[in-house]
Amino acid sequence: MLGPVILAASRSDRIRRLVSAAPVTRPVVDRFIPGETVDEVVPVIERLTGQGLDVTMDVVGEDITTPRQAMAARDSYLELVDRLKGLELGARAEMSVKLSMFGQSLPSPTTALKEGSSGPVPEFRGGHELALANVRPVVQAAAAIGTTVTLDAEDHTTLDSMFAIHEELRKDFPQTGCVIQSYLFRTEEDARRLAANGSRVRLVKGAYKEPAEVAYQRKHEIDKAYVRILKILMEGAGYPMIGSHDPRLISITQELARRARRKPDEYEFQMLYGIRCDEHLRLAADGHRMRVYTAYGTDWYGYFMRRLAEKPANLRFFARSMVSK
Ligand code: FAD
Repeated sequence: MLGPVILAASRSDRIRRLVSAAPVTRPVVDRFIPGETVDEVVPVIERLTGQGLDVTMDVVGEDITTPRQAMAARDSYLELVDRLKGLELGARAEMSVKLSMFGQSLPSPTTALKEGSSGPVPEFRGGHELALANVRPVVQAAAAIGTTVTLDAEDHTTLDSMFAIHEELRKDFPQTGCVIQSYLFRTEEDARRLAANGSRVRLVKGAYKEPAEVAYQRKHEIDKAYVRILKILMEGAGYPMIGSHDPRLISITQELARRARRKPDEYEFQMLYGIRCDEHLRLAADGHRMRVYTAYGTDWYGYFMRRLAEKPANLRFFARSMVSK
């Protein structure tokens, strides 16, 4: 029951200020977010890749309020690409982006202009076009150093726009990936479309608080849906990325990959930095491609709270460290 409460708190500015200012927060945050700057995170990338793991890098941030912040997000990713170039890791170090950070939820000046004119009403409102304009140079820069970008899935209201941006980017950069969430009713259909058109797709259970009209609420339903969707991806023409720490789903993936005659380089496992780290190494040692989703940056609150919500024991650990100081 704690999970939904923590997810609601992740949207509260008051709790954000309280948690972010608490002196004991940082050491707990470090478990999931190993740095605030590129300089701090480059040694982490070197350590992980030195251990035979691949990475997908996330500059944390979401819910921005101005176009200037969206451009700053773009620039922080461009700075990251610049540093990755020097590491010469190619596709072993890719990037994950949240379109909300690139302006997706802002009213876009372009859209406002179109609405004022006699032209056709745009299909998407808000910052859809702004997000596309900001993310494109990042995808382009990534391609220039031999790597790619995956578009994270946020709450369900953002997904039509995310999939449209994904499709648009794939026209020039077919390796661009996207994320689908097994807790949403719509996802089986999305998976069929993406599997047919050969996309790179990360399948996760889903980390947001979603209403019963659009999403399964019970763990066993979400897990069953995950397996159904996994089958679709494994049997399809795309590149499945299994984003889960769930041991049962990991062994089901191995069985489905065997049945679909996929070789180890025709799908990959992905897990979050700081969670089940022994399993990262075990799967890599077994010859699987294992990518560690590594988040860094100063605006870590939303990301951190979702990690607490996934496992309430994390919250007890956090609370204990506050009391013991
Ligand atoms: P669970 O059943 O939640 O967990 C299985 C086991 O893993 C648990 O028993 C526990 O041992 C361990 N575990 C899981 N989470 C934690 C935690 N926070 N702390 C400690 N132990 C934990 N969600 C989105 O909505 N959009 C995204 O774009 C997105 N990208 C992701 C990318 C990657 C690489 C991964 C791994 C997850 C991503 N998620 C995303 C989060 C995802 O939706 C789930 O919330 C999260 O992965 C937990 O689900 P699980 O599959 O690991 O299964």
